[in-house]
Amino acid sequence: MNLTRRFFLKYLMLSALFSKFIYKTGPALADGINTGSQEGSDMTDKIIKTEAEWKKILTSEQYDVMRKKGTERAFTGEYDGFKGEGRYHCAGCDNVLFDSNAKFDSGTGWPSFYEPASEKSLYEEEDNVFFMKRTEVLCRRCDAHLGHVFDDGPPPTGLRYCINSVSLKFKGDAPGK
Ligand SMILES: [Zn+2]
Repeated sequence: MNLTRRFFLKYLMLSALFSKFIYKTGPALADGINTGSQEGSDMTDKIIKTEAEWKKILTSEQYDVMRKKGTERAFTGEYDGFKGEGRYHCAGCDNVLFDSNAKFDSGTGWPSFYEPASEKSLYEEEDNVFFMKRTEVLCRRCDAHLGHVFDDGPPPTGLRYCINSVSLKFKGDAPGK
């Protein structure tokens, strides 16, 4: 009887300790998660609009590419052979996406860059449409589809960001001006 009681007391002590441990780690963990998400939202102010709102802002061609993941026809885009010095912004939300310094002539018919302007510019997602394994590139602020990234680009990164002209808005000095 005594023995059982001692075991019972030990069990009580252990469970008390254990619950204390949970109590201590619980809020700490929650704090960590909160801080993390706050940092995330500070990095870029997400822009979320309804499909109807995007349709009002974008041209039908922009809407097809940026919100429906379409692709403009090669060699038809405004910025394919464009050589202005400045920065390329997102046509949907004005986020700075690429610098003209990173633009190169890929010969593919789409404006191509070897790196994004900053960490806030883009994010990537696996794209397995049509059974082709490609990496989709999206605007970090408004989630617009921009194009794809391939690993056959020039130095220093070896990357080729293949971007639709319609999803870009150039700001800077156009050549000849
Ligand atoms: Zn955007």
